[in-house]
Amino acid sequence: MTGVSPLELLDVDHLLDDDERTIQHTVRRFVDDQVRPHVAEWYEHELTEDAVRQLARDAGKLGLLGMHLEGYGCAGTNAVSYGLACMELEAGDSGIRSLVSVQGSLAMFAIWKFGSEEQKQRWLPGMAAGELIGCFGLTEPDYGSNPAGMRTRARRDGTDWVLDGTKMWITNGTVADVAVVWAQTDDGVRGFLVPKGTKGFSAPKISRKLSLRASITSELVLDGVRLPAEAMLQEAMGLRGPLSCLSEARFGIVFGAIGAARDCLDSTLEYANSREVFGKTLSSFQLTQAKLADMALELQKGFLLAMHLGRLKDGERLSPQQVSLGKLNNVREALAIARECRTILAASGITLEYPVLRHANNLESVLTYEGTSEIHQLVIGQALTGEAAFT
Ligand code: FAD
Repeated sequence: MTGVSPLELLDVDHLLDDDERTIQHTVRRFVDDQVRPHVAEWYEHELTEDAVRQLARDAGKLGLLGMHLEGYGCAGTNAVSYGLACMELEAGDSGIRSLVSVQGSLAMFAIWKFGSEEQKQRWLPGMAAGELIGCFGLTEPDYGSNPAGMRTRARRDGTDWVLDGTKMWITNGTVADVAVVWAQTDDGVRGFLVPKGTKGFSAPKISRKLSLRASITSELVLDGVRLPAEAMLQEAMGLRGPLSCLSEARFGIVFGAIGAARDCLDSTLEYANSREVFGKTLSSFQLTQAKLADMALELQKGFLLAMHLGRLKDGERLSPQQVSLGKLNNVREALAIARECRTILAASGITLEYPVLRHANNLESVLTYEGTSEIHQLVIGQALTGEAAFT
């Protein structure tokens, strides 16, 4: 006896147009062919820099990098298509979706939105092709949720800028050809483009992670890094600059988390249909079916929420508070689904033979980055009450 896939129960496919469906299926095939066969190995031994470069080039060929941006070699798709791509990538692994999100929504978006024409011409076509990799340095060792306190400083020296400080937990830092670095200046927070190899700049890798192992995470060290005046992102003034980039990336996570949860549920259904306990298949027990039904329910609610936000974004009506709602709900529920799936797989669920604990461990990072759950609760709380409770 076979059932329907969890996302088919509500026939949500008809919410997509033909282009969106084609993009979704293309990315799903890419994940099946180029991610799934290797992902357990990448997770066990950590993703190498060569593998990141290869993945970036492959994603570039498919047009996935900066895909929702216009011009400069970017595909210029709608927001829903970008979301669906994130969903399929994260069904493979949150680390692979992170590579694409950081490249497109953080590093490329910052340059595309706030950079000069010269900066755009220099960096964006190579980044869209995956030949150049970018990272986004906002978080610091002592300032994560509260970037306003950042200590990284950029001071003027003649027409040059000199940057000092440390950034922490930066995705793709070690492998990046260009780092978008946010620093405090006399005029507030400003963004700077720091090319790899600039004197005084290094990006050591952070090791011994238990989460997001198929992704490189790094420290950025800026020790008297001298940059010409043209390295600054002219149009980004104050924290609104980096925060608007984060809103872009969070949108991708709203869809992405659903991909990870779907993958957990798909593999768990298959397992429950074949595993026998007490002389019957695991899937035939009422307790198992109650778990599966509740998970399918949350998965579909999460997908509908993501689609609603996607349509709002395509109508240019999406607010940061709405993105907070989506990120908070979908990552929280995806993590709950991954953990519940693990209980159905029991001992088998703790290995890399199945994706569920890998996804659950990854989602711990996803719950934290791009605004922790608590920060999103505070954003929503402020929208509901009119009271800011951050401090
Ligand atoms: P803290 O800010 O120290 O928070 C600690 C705890 O306090 C959390 O539970 C938090 O929710 C809670 N808290 C904080 N403020 C409040 C409050 N006002 N009220 C109640 N509770 C509060 N950053 C980048 O800039 N670029 C990247 O590419 C990047 N990639 C990352 C990749 C990974 C794998 C990870 C794990 C992180 C990455 N980050 C990146 C950093 C991430 O954005 C931060 O970890 C996140 O913002 C939280 O900061 P923190 O870890 O310093 O926690």
